[in-house]
Amino acid sequence: MPDIKMVDLHKQYQKIKHEVDAAIQEVISTTSFINGPQVNAFRQNLAAYLNARHVITCANGTDALQIALMALDLKPGDEVISPDFTFIATVEVIALLGLKPVIVDVDPLTFTMDPDEVRKAITPKTRVILPVHLYGQCANMTELTSIAELHNLYLIEDTAQALGAEYNDGTLSGKAGTLGTIGCTSFFPSKNLGCFGDGGAIITNHDALAKKMQCIANHGANVKYYHDEVGINSRLDSIQAAILNVKLPYLNQYALARRKAASYYNERLSALPGICTPAPARHTSHVFHQYTLKVKEVRDELKNYLEKKGIPTMIYYPVPMHGQKAFTIVGKFPVSAQLANEVLSLPMHTELQESELDYICTQIENYFKK
Ligand SMILES: *Cc1c(COP(=O)(O)O)cnc(C)c1O
Repeated sequence: MPDIKMVDLHKQYQKIKHEVDAAIQEVISTTSFINGPQVNAFRQNLAAYLNARHVITCANGTDALQIALMALDLKPGDEVISPDFTFIATVEVIALLGLKPVIVDVDPLTFTMDPDEVRKAITPKTRVILPVHLYGQCANMTELTSIAELHNLYLIEDTAQALGAEYNDGTLSGKAGTLGTIGCTSFFPSKNLGCFGDGGAIITNHDALAKKMQCIANHGANVKYYHDEVGINSRLDSIQAAILNVKLPYLNQYALARRKAASYYNERLSALPGICTPAPARHTSHVFHQYTLKVKEVRDELKNYLEKKGIPTMIYYPVPMHGQKAFTIVGKFPVSAQLANEVLSLPMHTELQESELDYICTQIENYFKK
């Protein structure tokens, strides 16, 4: 059996080991572990890559979302609209700040926030729309932007899974994370741009918001020991920034490798009855953080079958936000409820070999033949 991994960070590292090791060693030899020159360099490098005015680095993607919401001068009970089908962090920070998460269902094809549901969810207390660019594909930012403009709302993008994706539908274009008021991302090791620990960043084209978020991430201080507001301590350390400076120039190449693997899966699997391959990407160059099938009825059985054949798979996510004990969310979410029962993510990373893809697809074909 081939040794197939859901995410293969080891092979990716081997290819850039010399560069990464030298970058880490440089930080160690200068011992500027916090706020070393690598951090500022990375902020500038990422801003240039995204064509954004400002990048503020922070400790992780969850903090990025929290800092973004803290910067908007919201009042307790103000409403933030977010999708039901996401990782907990998106909704957790809303609740943590005493704001009200207003959860909406997702589009059955892209699994991202459904703009029609957003329209229905708007009340006089709505302040923010917080879409998630799930699995590497952008939400419908054109419609969400027009809703936000119509109702004078902030638009925060959770682009933790879609860094590097390019949005363009003829009306609106730009890199994921630069389309709304603020973009938030994560450098968790398995993300498309991952560091060797935790890391995150906030992206914005607004000068005043950038200054405010920088201040919040730094204990509410613009000048050391002079604190203008209550902030938090959230930093990307120099070693992580040094690693990210090495990896950023490979990000487009990594996206290509992911797309290539996705095309292979599509070709082999799209005709199989019983499974549904991802719908063709709409308005985004998909960066396939995940390659996710929909499998009716036999999802868990297929998962177990593949596991026995040495193929890891994952369910992102088994419980949508409305089913989480941490929240009390009322309403009906038929699309995300169904997705939670049907989604199955296949191995997806930058080092997948054609022989591995062939093996995975053959086993899936075999399962449906039996
Ligand atoms: C990973 C992720 C986050 C959180 O990032 P961390 O760096 O783990 O805090 C937030 N939102 C989504 C959609 C994610 O996938």
